[in-house]
Amino acid sequence: MRGRLSRIVGIDLGTTNSLVAYIDEQTGLPRVIPDRDGHVLLPSVVSFTREGVLVGDAAKRQLVRKPDTTVYSVKRFMGRGWDDVQEELRYFPFSIKPEDGIIRLLVGGREVTPPEVSAIVLRSLKERAEAHFGEPIERAVITVPAYFNDSQRQATKDAGRIAGLDVVRIVNEPTAASLAYGLHELHDGIIAVYDLGGGTFDISILRVKDGIFEVLATNGNTHLGGDDFDRVLMDWLLDDLRARHGADLSGDHEALQELRLASEAAKIRLSAVERTALTLPFADFTYHRETSRQELEELIEPLVQATLAPCRMALADAGLAPGQLDEVVLVGGSTRVPLVRRRVQELFGKVPHSRLNPDEVVALGAAVQAHILAGGITNMLLLDVTPLSLGIETLGGIVSVLIPRNTTIPTSAREMFTTSVDGQTVVDMHVVQGERELVRDCRSLARFELRGIDPMPAGMPKIEVTFLIDANGILQVHARELRTGKAASIEVKPTYGLEDADVARMVEESFAYAEADVSARLLIETRNEADTVTTHVERALRQGAHLTGEDELARIRAAVDALKQVRESGDRDLIRERTIALNHATERLAELLMDSTLKEALGSKRVAEILESP
Ligand code: AMP
Repeated sequence: MRGRLSRIVGIDLGTTNSLVAYIDEQTGLPRVIPDRDGHVLLPSVVSFTREGVLVGDAAKRQLVRKPDTTVYSVKRFMGRGWDDVQEELRYFPFSIKPEDGIIRLLVGGREVTPPEVSAIVLRSLKERAEAHFGEPIERAVITVPAYFNDSQRQATKDAGRIAGLDVVRIVNEPTAASLAYGLHELHDGIIAVYDLGGGTFDISILRVKDGIFEVLATNGNTHLGGDDFDRVLMDWLLDDLRARHGADLSGDHEALQELRLASEAAKIRLSAVERTALTLPFADFTYHRETSRQELEELIEPLVQATLAPCRMALADAGLAPGQLDEVVLVGGSTRVPLVRRRVQELFGKVPHSRLNPDEVVALGAAVQAHILAGGITNMLLLDVTPLSLGIETLGGIVSVLIPRNTTIPTSAREMFTTSVDGQTVVDMHVVQGERELVRDCRSLARFELRGIDPMPAGMPKIEVTFLIDANGILQVHARELRTGKAASIEVKPTYGLEDADVARMVEESFAYAEADVSARLLIETRNEADTVTTHVERALRQGAHLTGEDELARIRAAVDALKQVRESGDRDLIRERTIALNHATERLAELLMDSTLKEALGSKRVAEILESP
């Protein structure tokens, strides 16, 4: 086991750009980690060239030259089905094919899944953090849009795993942005997070109460952002080029690309200055144009207005009026545009938080969450998810998890269990919490008994176990035997007496002992299987000894003894081998028994006749 807890970084895995951040231990403040050239934003672009895989700026440079080998905006495909993405495909040069419900992108003659592409971006950020700290980085908090569903969240976790990262928590982007501004310290408040990036717009209305964030409503437009600002400015410049120079560039891809980049640069300058000039040397003339912030604002006003309608809808969905908000947070590079800030302020009637860099704020908040999880902030536990897995003890002291760690609450889960001993009328229910495979390494939460089950052979009772966690984190466990209807239940508070440090330690230990735990569980399962087969065979020997000769019975008894001899050994393969051999040795006796039981039940008809009849 490691001597101390390993570091957890915060990652904003964005549609356009991704970045990684951590908490500076000296100042306690979150910081983003730059690459060797001092760049903080890593373009979420991956290019599959003949020489190898490129990521970030190097891949982005391939976008114009080799569009068919370069993947961008892969976040739009994460965890989505074939039907969901047909609309998206209109915007992409590469094709996709579905296979077993998994989407594969066809790029540069290869097939890759969206999580595999995202993993390349994540690995690059992991390496960046490792170079910064000079130590391996294995754990991360990753952010996703608040509207991401379970499979999109799972795909993001998969991407982390492929990149060699344990994703200790998935956090909503608006929650992360609020954390970066310290809004988790509000006792009770309503927050609007307005996120306008390059190609997407999201509005989220959150409620924070005692450190717990709840998403009240989300809305947005998945194809609206700063790129559209560039486009309207570019169209305006194209008209000007036509009017003043008689030049039509609409078919010239390279010139259009130049003009697009110049438009974006001018737009960015106009966030800081009132007027700017643009100069573009073409083959036969040089284009020069002055432009003002006011002109830009007139051009983009309809686009900015288009973001306000989703804001109003989200407010209505949350049952709120604009004046009821306590805080407004700005996220995304395009919220640097002064017109955007003015309109947001007018709509919500609040000066938005804008002190932090809007490109970095989500990653900074992910770092804050990572720090909390790593035990750096001990006086609070963000309890909108289960901090540790919850399950029950099953045969041999193995944990069967019903609600995994990091499940958003409230939540419920249901599973069927049965008995392991013939005639069992009482079942001991043991509720445990933790990340380890064996009960003895987990925290015991509660025990209760399910009584009054009718005596039945092992495996016959059907015991339905339900776990239910309410919004306050209270766990109710119900157990019911379906044949007899007997039921019992208990209520516990899983977080009672649980400190952040305990959670971190238990999670940490589950990694440290992962391999040993898995082999211990497999050994127990193999022994359980051996016991089940032995019990069945012994029953068959009692009931069917008269059906066959002494030779066969002796062979079966020898196989039972051979299995019993190795049961206590730690040799899983040997136990399994002898279990299979025992099964094999009893095949004929089992058939004879079934035949005679059926005959008894059905009078004199031959079994074969019954099986043949329709
Ligand atoms: P994001 O997706 O959050 O990285 O935002 C990228 C978008 O923000 C792009 O459309 C950029 O052109 C835009 N952007 C970045 N900085 C500025 C700025 N200072 N003024 C206006 N837009 C900006």
